[in-house]
Amino acid sequence: MSVQTQPTGRTFRTTDQVDFVVIGSGPAGASVARELTRKGFDVLVLEQGRAYAPEEMEHDELGAFITERWTNSSQTQPQTFRTSEQETAQRRQFVGYAKAVGGTSFHFTGNYWRFRPIDFNEYSVRGGVPGASLADWPITYDELEPYYSAVEWAIGVSGEVSTAPGEPRHSRPYPLPPLNVTGPGVLLARGCEKVGWSHKAAPMAILSREYNGRQRCHNCGFCLGFPCEWGAKSGANHTMIPEALRSGRCEVRSGCTVFRIETNDAGRATGVLYFDADKREVRQSAKAVVLSANGAESPRLLLLSENAQHPNGLANSSGMVGKHFMFNGAALTRGEFEHEVNGHRGPVVSRITHQTYELDESLGFIGGGGYDFRFDVPAMLMALSLPASEPQWGSAFKQRLRSWYNQSLLCYAHTTSLPVESNSVSLDPALKDAWGLPALRTTFREHEHDLAMYKWFQARGRELLDAAGALRMHDDPINTDPGFAVHLLGTCRMGNDPATSVVDKYHRTHDVRNLFIVDGSSFVTSGRGQPTLTIQALAFRAADHIAQFARANQI
Ligand SMILES: Cc1cc2nc3c(=O)[nH]c(=O)nc-3n(C[C@H](O)[C@H](O)[C@H](O)COP(=O)(O)OP(=O)(O)OC[C@H]3O[C@@H](n4cnc5c(N)ncnc54)[C@H](O)[C@@H]3O)c2cc1C
Ligand code: SF4
Repeated sequence: MSVQTQPTGRTFRTTDQVDFVVIGSGPAGASVARELTRKGFDVLVLEQGRAYAPEEMEHDELGAFITERWTNSSQTQPQTFRTSEQETAQRRQFVGYAKAVGGTSFHFTGNYWRFRPIDFNEYSVRGGVPGASLADWPITYDELEPYYSAVEWAIGVSGEVSTAPGEPRHSRPYPLPPLNVTGPGVLLARGCEKVGWSHKAAPMAILSREYNGRQRCHNCGFCLGFPCEWGAKSGANHTMIPEALRSGRCEVRSGCTVFRIETNDAGRATGVLYFDADKREVRQSAKAVVLSANGAESPRLLLLSENAQHPNGLANSSGMVGKHFMFNGAALTRGEFEHEVNGHRGPVVSRITHQTYELDESLGFIGGGGYDFRFDVPAMLMALSLPASEPQWGSAFKQRLRSWYNQSLLCYAHTTSLPVESNSVSLDPALKDAWGLPALRTTFREHEHDLAMYKWFQARGRELLDAAGALRMHDDPINTDPGFAVHLLGTCRMGNDPATSVVDKYHRTHDVRNLFIVDGSSFVTSGRGQPTLTIQALAFRAADHIAQFARANQI
């Protein structure tokens, strides 16, 4: 079976008033585009990155992790960071995402966990936390469930529905059987069985069998941080985008950096302004705008779009745009084993445990999470990750690297992260990007309860590694910020009250009737890790409602 090439799609003129402009071609924007075109609407997707052909998707370790070959750029898109609103932010790349058609799913890992009911109503069940703004979502798990299933079947998720206590209801099984179990998966299962925990096949957006004309995973091992030249990883570039283009109603215009959403005197969005690849300013008009630029760039674009009617930024009458930035917490420990683990032979993760998904608040914090054992980065980066106490040069280094690479794995806990109002995305008052626009500024400090929870997870992770037979362990330090953030959540939160939220339960902004925000920014809580299936299910659901509003002339 050959690797599929991208269909061409439609070409709109900039003078056309398209039905919808969608900003961003990641899992969120691409899903909205696919769904709206299937419902008969014309959609123009504007994407700042470009489309890559399979032959360009090389196993380029330096490009993937050091020289920003596929990601937002520290040169043209510099960022700043501070830990509190009282500080002057310093230059630092903190937020990372892929700048390509397909968005960050172009090179993601493909863990596709569903949320559980508790993720939507933890505030009601557990109560508030001082210093955090924990709140319930205005929707429930049951409302989203059909869309979880629809996404799993549309892109081909591999997995097995678990019957362990606490597992959420699935109306349908996964369309594909689990991926093959890898070395780290075998050891996770061994550890869990020894400590009496349940474990299950990891649900993955990677094909275990041929599906919808796409090839199954070749177990190449260059997965996290790399695009999949075989098309087996079900990122939006291999799934939603080609389907939207094949509808004949969609254009994906790449190399276009949107810098303003325009509104008229009546307070309606009329279109967008963007810089094309030659930095020329272009205007595209539209009947409605869907903002799906991710949890960091969407709020930045709203703030950049301020005008006389919206002096604090578009859709920001509540002052909540950019607030409550969340990432999913983590606690990591590397375990070294007597024998070869060979985690590089296949996708990053094959088995997980959700035994710790919902923890008792008597522990002193609210939340929970799950674990995987994984191979994470390829050889070149592993060479750079040896602890300072280990040999760093010569034959002793080579010898040590051999065991470090082949005989170790990472025990990775993925957890909740509390929403805190002062953790935010805003515009830097001094630093500008390559287009002369204010740079992205992040303000972030972990909540004390989360730091306590990460320590708890690291301690249990060590017990799991010990039970699996690890001979030596190396903890990653737990700091007041994650160092680098890729799960970008919460910055345009969803809610019924326009005074405390940015979008309503249908992703329509409270302030601008024909502007919708669909991506991780609308999350009210972070979930326990792996947010993208939920982002995509929300996008399918949003598209259903947006289409109904459009048909009823309510946009
Ligand atoms: C290495 C890595 C591994 C990951 N693994 C997992 C995983 O296993 N499971 C999981 O659930 N999540 C994972 N994630 C996170 C996941 O990729 C994101 O949650 C997901 O892609 C978010 O989808 P999105 O559509 O909201 O945003 P994105 O995928 O970030 O897409 C937004 C798009 O908008 C474009 N854009 C931004 N601003 C503009 C603008 N002004 N004009 C035009 N275009 C613009 C961007 O270039 C980008 O293409 C991973 C992330 C990384 C980096
Ligand atoms: S491991 Fe499989 S899914 Fe991942 S990049 Fe390689 S072939 Fe694609």
